[in-house]
Amino acid sequence: MTERPAFFETKIEYLKGVGPQRAALFNLDLGIFTYADLLQHYPFRYEDRTRFYDISQITDPECSGLAAVQLKGRLRHWEIVGEGHKKRLIGYFSDGSGTLELVWFQSISWLEKNLRADGEYVVYGKPVAFGGKFSITHPELEILSEASDRPENESGGHWQPVYNLTERLRKRHIDSKLIARLQRALLEVSLSYIRETLPDSLIQKYRLIGKKEALWHIHLPANEAALHQARRRLKFEELFYNQFRLIKQKLIRKTEYAGQVFTRTDFVGQFYKDHLPFELTNAQKRVIREIFEDMRTGKQMNRLLQGDVGSGKTIVAFIAILLAIDNAAQACLMAPTEILAEQHFQGLKPYAEALGLKITKLTGSTTKKERRRIHEGLLLGTVHLIVGTHALLEDIVQFKNLGLCVIDEQHRFGVAQRAKLWNKNQGVYPHILVMTATPIPRTLAMTLYGDLDVSIIDEMPAGRKPIKTVHRYDSHRLAVFGFLREEIRKGRQIYIVYPLIEESEKMDFKDLMDGYESVSRSFPEYQLSIVHGKMPARDKDWEMQRFIQQETQIMVATTVIEVGVNVPNASVMVVESAERFGLSQLHQLRGRVGRGAEQSFCILMTDVKLSKDTRIRLETLVRTNNGFEIADTDLKLRGPGDLSGTQQSGVVDLIIADLAKDGEILKVARECAQAILEDDPDLILPQHAPIRDHVETVRENENNWARIS
Ligand code: ADP
Ligand code: MG
Repeated sequence: MTERPAFFETKIEYLKGVGPQRAALFNLDLGIFTYADLLQHYPFRYEDRTRFYDISQITDPECSGLAAVQLKGRLRHWEIVGEGHKKRLIGYFSDGSGTLELVWFQSISWLEKNLRADGEYVVYGKPVAFGGKFSITHPELEILSEASDRPENESGGHWQPVYNLTERLRKRHIDSKLIARLQRALLEVSLSYIRETLPDSLIQKYRLIGKKEALWHIHLPANEAALHQARRRLKFEELFYNQFRLIKQKLIRKTEYAGQVFTRTDFVGQFYKDHLPFELTNAQKRVIREIFEDMRTGKQMNRLLQGDVGSGKTIVAFIAILLAIDNAAQACLMAPTEILAEQHFQGLKPYAEALGLKITKLTGSTTKKERRRIHEGLLLGTVHLIVGTHALLEDIVQFKNLGLCVIDEQHRFGVAQRAKLWNKNQGVYPHILVMTATPIPRTLAMTLYGDLDVSIIDEMPAGRKPIKTVHRYDSHRLAVFGFLREEIRKGRQIYIVYPLIEESEKMDFKDLMDGYESVSRSFPEYQLSIVHGKMPARDKDWEMQRFIQQETQIMVATTVIEVGVNVPNASVMVVESAERFGLSQLHQLRGRVGRGAEQSFCILMTDVKLSKDTRIRLETLVRTNNGFEIADTDLKLRGPGDLSGTQQSGVVDLIIADLAKDGEILKVARECAQAILEDDPDLILPQHAPIRDHVETVRENENNWARIS
């Protein structure tokens, strides 16, 4: 329930069948406090209990290996046998066609008190044969009369909702059946309070069922079709309001938040004339135009710059930075890692200095003394551009006049951090440019960045040769090393990357060090660099610099080099234990090569034993360089919950819609939200009353809106 008139704020303790003790458990274990919370606790799956079996059917050896079955019959009697941990309660259950044993090792005393001898029960569980006898251990058990006040189909069966539960709840006999019964009790008393939250026009147009019906059937589906309609309706509603909120936010920014007006372009012109190192691609020119237009309007820019790895986002950002500086404002560029901040700093420094601009760097390892100087320079306005990491977010970092924030590789930053940057300037908010390299699936982009305007670089700089990707088994290492040797002889440099994952850090670290030793033994004639996350920043820097200066030929590293590092002469990326990396991550890693004019290679090394998903991941990479295709495959394989950036961001908190599967609904919902907001931004029209009411009730109560930056 997203709609919360006072009735739905009632504490669940007052619901028939709950009471203070269960209420406390619901509060603690499920975060359910009110009627609304309970109604919104949707099942995460459903079991097909539309069919009843006869005991004779399952005891028939032909039918062995059945999954869980549902039976209807009488519990004749029971007994307790065994001692200690073997102590168990055995119930003898028969239905006229045969008899079966029901076995419990737990809750024995509770069962003794509550079981009804000769009672009629519905039993559900997985039958197993042991010594010629059939039994079900820890079956679900329900008195037939209780079972039968559920909506049933012709055969007397139903779809059983399965709810998220905790071990503690189960121990207190709170199971899915009980929750379904509570939902039923709640629905019965609340039907008259449930209001429709979508306008009639949308309901008609997309043939959605009403809110009441949907809530009923999501908990107590009469049949498969009703369940399908209920889910469709609730997903639509959820995605509609998700998009409505984001688009509304965007409109508010556009109309209400002033931005500095940047019109002078002296440095920009000079840079184009004297220092631009290459011809910009058409895509780069187009996105620069889009950014410049934003920064001229007098409204705050909030723009997402999307472009595949290596598409040349940095230069675009730099040109936008020059525009800010041209107009007496300062700029900051924030990167997710020290290495990347260093790289940007080193890369941009020559340009900045050629134009007589002061650029500086602030990271976690900047000394106190240095910091004081930087803080001062920023306040006085003598520093024009600052490049850094999260360190830039600290409150003490204040500017004379911050005009533009560029956030690189956004997926590492949360939305809250984005918001923090807003407040770095007194008076007018700075313009914000978010750059993301992982091409994220469209559905995720819509929900994560739906409040931003989007610019896309969909073209690679000319002369790039597509990276050749191959998959090799560990047993071919000798041949792979032979190939590496040839490439180094031609003057190229090599990355060899190892996984380093927190949970198995020690082992991974050993793998990395073993790998390093074996590489140095195999290439005695060459110099190696090594970089990993546990090294002090100074040492990392030093190793990185040696590689950039081509003093070393091979860089052995963990994924710290994943993001953004740019060494055009490095043309081979070897990924060890590639099966342990995600698809997007592998694509990112591969993007470290292919930046120069030479043919580049990516070699994915794995064990021979691979899961089906892993094979799909590797095949996808070998087949395509297209980041969007890769992102979509990734989403399908992993599901959205797992995608980097979604958990921390807090923006995507969908309870029923699934970004991997509901892309089509999302698209339509977004179009609807967009059209309504264009047509009637203040929701004055009578047909939009349901939206207005809903938005207002949500705003009045504890709300999701505050989470949006
Ligand atoms: P990303 O979009 O992944 O951040 P970068 O900005 O690091 O990519 O650019 C990748 C490489 O391509 C850099 O070496 C950069 O100098 C180069 N580059 C960018 N734009 C062009 C262009 N138009 N022509 C040639 N090289 C370019
Ligand atoms: Mg980059």
